[in-house]
Amino acid sequence: MKKLCYVFVGSFFLTFIISANLVCANVRDPDDPSKYRKALYLKTAALTGVPWAVIAGCDQYARNIAGASDEKTLISLKDTDRDWVGIFNRNLKDRDPVTIAFFGGSGKDGNGDGRADPGDPEDRILSFADQIAAYGPGEQNYRIAIWNYFHRGKAVELIEDFARVFEKYNRVSLTGHDFPLPLGANYDYEPTWGARRGWGGLRIHEGTDLFADYGTPVHATAYGVIEMTGWNKFGGWRIGLRDLQGNYHYFAHLNGYAKGIRKGTVTQPGQTIGYVGSTGYGPQGTMGKFPPHLHYGLYHDNGITEYSIDPYPSLRSWERQEKQRKR
Ligand SMILES: [Zn+2]
Repeated sequence: MKKLCYVFVGSFFLTFIISANLVCANVRDPDDPSKYRKALYLKTAALTGVPWAVIAGCDQYARNIAGASDEKTLISLKDTDRDWVGIFNRNLKDRDPVTIAFFGGSGKDGNGDGRADPGDPEDRILSFADQIAAYGPGEQNYRIAIWNYFHRGKAVELIEDFARVFEKYNRVSLTGHDFPLPLGANYDYEPTWGARRGWGGLRIHEGTDLFADYGTPVHATAYGVIEMTGWNKFGGWRIGLRDLQGNYHYFAHLNGYAKGIRKGTVTQPGQTIGYVGSTGYGPQGTMGKFPPHLHYGLYHDNGITEYSIDPYPSLRSWERQEKQRKR
């Protein structure tokens, strides 16, 4: 009986392993595209030699630019019809990998059905990665390849950041946010975005001021990469954090930085990155010209430019979500 039981359990696990493999290879879960996405990135990396995190970073960049409508799209990277079929190909709807290759088009057959179909995510991602792989392996070649594909210096920087985050956490679903201060701390904030302020000439207040005690820990609000640290006469000691959605989170007037926080550090929500202070409004080291607070700004990159958005509604919702999680 015992033996039979082992056989039963064993075959159950075998079935489980086999079906898990099938999930990776074929099944698309419309509710959770991220699992299938990761499987596709890994498969494409194996076929082309381009690291999966680089492919994931490029696809993330394309998804951010496409905006909310692309949230559930499996693969956002997409070539034009002309690039897909080749410059001199008279058939713009060509799906034959042989003629497409003859005309130098980018279209490839990624899923082995004999067609190079731009509507198929597997075909699309392989076609993209092949274009990157054509420049040769190594970081420098990937940078050149990415620049040639997107024609934007900012894209190269952002994709590098994204790839580092994917590499560190080894998964593609990294969307959580945290409130920038500990919920138990003594803090207070009002919607002050867009208000006028006086120091250093007339400027618009691009952020929300969160008043808190000196030394209150400041938390990373998202999965991302520290893009900037250092002194600025307005913001004092500050931190710029780039998240996977292309948003830039700006933390100013800090007392100091948490240990190990520097340009290039990969962060996760809730991680302490610095401490509340009152630095700024003068040369390096100036402090105490206003009550201690965290100035928090949020900027969005839309693929062309970066613009300030009011962080207040996001702050309120992250605060609420965090309270619910900790209940
Ligand atoms: Zn402020």
